[in-house]
Amino acid sequence: MTKIDPTNDQSAWNALNTEIENCESCPRLIEYCSQVAQKKRKSYLEHDYWGKPVPNFGNPRSEVLLVGLAPAAHGANRTGRMFTGDRSGDFLFAALHRAGMCNQTESFDNQDGLILQGCAITAICHCAPPQNKPDRTELSNCRPWLEETLDRFRFRVFIALGAMAWNSMLQVAKQNNWHDGSSAKFAHGAELHFAPSRWLIGSYHPSQQNTFTGRLTPEMLDQVLIRANQMKTENQ
Ligand code: SF4
Repeated sequence: MTKIDPTNDQSAWNALNTEIENCESCPRLIEYCSQVAQKKRKSYLEHDYWGKPVPNFGNPRSEVLLVGLAPAAHGANRTGRMFTGDRSGDFLFAALHRAGMCNQTESFDNQDGLILQGCAITAICHCAPPQNKPDRTELSNCRPWLEETLDRFRFRVFIALGAMAWNSMLQVAKQNNWHDGSSAKFAHGAELHFAPSRWLIGSYHPSQQNTFTGRLTPEMLDQVLIRANQMKTENQ
């Protein structure tokens, strides 16, 4: 695809996000997001839920892209911003703040003043799925949004939050001839060089399942972010 005019990164980003927000390719997920938004969780009855596909978030001119799985039903599906409004986001944004990659430690809603510095966040599925599990068709439907995000902008250090994000990145990298597609297993801290000058790094997802059990500690996530920032200066 033709590269966009770099002076128009923000407008291209906004345009892509509008397309994502209006996507209706997965009837099950669109229905689920909307139902959750109407029913609401007791503690959020006063909130206006977003209830539709959640767009990319962050600085489109940055080099680091975090790739998550999918919005949480009462997190990003409520607030309309990736990782905002749930415990996963609390853990992630605190780490990004320690790494100098955002301006505040907490995130509540999409008007809380949070600004990502030198990074952006996307997901392999932009709609909240039941039980946090998109099916194969839904992941496949959503892949073009990941492809567009990679194709239209200049991200070159990718942090895959979890094995599913890692595998999706491998597929897109193979498609783009950045990588030969040979099996490269996901692990926390695993690194993979994509030609030219692109890198993939694996991290356990900051889900409560991982952070409450100590599978992912703040220090472990800090190490990944430090490494991602180092990779920005590497040219191979
Ligand atoms: S999951 Fe992705 S492809 Fe499916 S409706 Fe949501 S935005 Fe569209």
